Amino acid sequence: MDDAHTLLKQVWGFDRFRPGQEEIVAAIVEGRDVLAIMPTGAGKSLCYQLPALMRPGLTVVVSPLIALMRDQVAALQANGVAAGALTSNTDPHEAEAIYQMIDAGTLKLLFMAPERLSVAGGLLRRAGISMLAIDEAHCVSQWGHDFRPDYLRIGELRDALRAEGAEVQITAFTATADEETRGEIASKLFSDAPQVFLGGFDRPNLFLAFEPKAQAKTQVTDFVLRHEGEAGIVYCSSRAKTEQFAEHLQKKGIEALAYHAGLDAETRQVRQDRFTREDGIVICATVAFGMGIDKPDVRFVVHADLPKSMEAYYQEVGRAGRDGLPADTLTLYGVDDIKLRRLQIDDSDAPDARRRADHQRLNALLSLAEAPRCRRQVLLAFFGEREHEPCGNCDLCKSPVETFDGTEDAQKALSAMVRTGERFGLEHIISILRGEDTERVRTLRHDQLPTYGVGAHYDKHQWRDLCRQLYALGLTSVDAQYGSWLVTEAGWAVLKAEAQVALRHPPAKQARRARGSG
Ligand code: ADP
Ligand code: ZN
Repeated sequence: MDDAHTLLKQVWGFDRFRPGQEEIVAAIVEGRDVLAIMPTGAGKSLCYQLPALMRPGLTVVVSPLIALMRDQVAALQANGVAAGALTSNTDPHEAEAIYQMIDAGTLKLLFMAPERLSVAGGLLRRAGISMLAIDEAHCVSQWGHDFRPDYLRIGELRDALRAEGAEVQITAFTATADEETRGEIASKLFSDAPQVFLGGFDRPNLFLAFEPKAQAKTQVTDFVLRHEGEAGIVYCSSRAKTEQFAEHLQKKGIEALAYHAGLDAETRQVRQDRFTREDGIVICATVAFGMGIDKPDVRFVVHADLPKSMEAYYQEVGRAGRDGLPADTLTLYGVDDIKLRRLQIDDSDAPDARRRADHQRLNALLSLAEAPRCRRQVLLAFFGEREHEPCGNCDLCKSPVETFDGTEDAQKALSAMVRTGERFGLEHIISILRGEDTERVRTLRHDQLPTYGVGAHYDKHQWRDLCRQLYALGLTSVDAQYGSWLVTEAGWAVLKAEAQVALRHPPAKQARRARGSG
């Protein structure tokens, strides 16, 4: 790996690898197929770009982020690497230059937008590709939050290349780690099982906090004023709101700019450039902003509205503090946000299974918003890391909420799940707990269960809240496709009275009225 260190210094100017990078680079250099899951900002691009330079032949990088590809190509070229990009923005001139380099066998890295893959198939076959690197690999997952149909062509291309005897290594990278998506990536992109690297998802320098939304403008302004002179992003759920928030912040003397897809390309570019180059600019943006922006010293991210899923949340707050220095985040969530997100899911044209999965992803985020203890533990458990201690760097670690011994309530809910074969959604579980006389309960004879009616002391909303806490604590998990509630190993420990649970008191009636079908 000496060569790797030399290149790291020469081409990128870095003295050392970040955690995870070296192992991944080594596996790729050895010729293994690799699936690497690392959080946003961890430094994935280097993991495929560096090995690409260490091997003969061409590496094709598939990425949906055109702006990012352009920047990376420019940076690589500036350091003497033969790199190019083929996207919908590539003019015929540039394309011709790229074809020539391919024919001459000098091109090392070719970035491609997925929609170009089918067009360029023939070209790629004669190019002598030795590696396909797939960035944002979760885009291949049909139930994922970012599905791009063109990603399905990657498998076709791989098969076509291999049918002609080419030895093409496949490497794939993503920040999305839930197990279903991971499985889908492995089956759609790889013909044999890849070596999987699950990078540490923790970004300990990010302070995590949620607040119920009361006066959003005031809450956001107060937060931003505490960070005067620092660069940050305020995410809003609509274009109109980005304008309103920017205007409001400007009145308070903050250099704030709105950014959304409704602005013309030039304005967007100017604002993005100012944000990247100047100090202390605050961008009020829709989620269109951020993908592919390489600014390591973003000091804060505020969500003026609830994001659409756990993954989206972590990706968006993850745009702060990529330099590893402390960064602050705050997410506001209100009843209307939750309703809006549910409506957006219900109104989409997506198939039923996809919509159910989207509701689950939203539920995961709600359980983070309502977590009874360390948010980072809840967040990391969602990404499969259950071994972390309380972090000391989130709002709940700083000021804990009041809890009660919820062991008995938890046992009731968990046993209702187990006794019905872990095949039912939350509403039915709650019907059983509350002893409701519904048609479903009667048909399935669930009124015969010992758990029938043992939870009549809470109403529906309170049970929903408590069960979300069980979920947040990792005692239950929810099947992404069918929405059925399952008991985890930690849940079984509670059921068997080997562990106790502290729960937050269920909320007062007023606050939970319009919370929707959680
Ligand atoms: P990801 O794709 O995982 O979100 P990037 O590849 O965009 O992350 O890298 C995030 C930032 O970290 C970039 O600014 C990149 O230049 C920087 N970076 C990557 N690897 C290293 C390293 N070994 N040392 C220092 N900085 C690094
Ligand atoms: Zn914490």
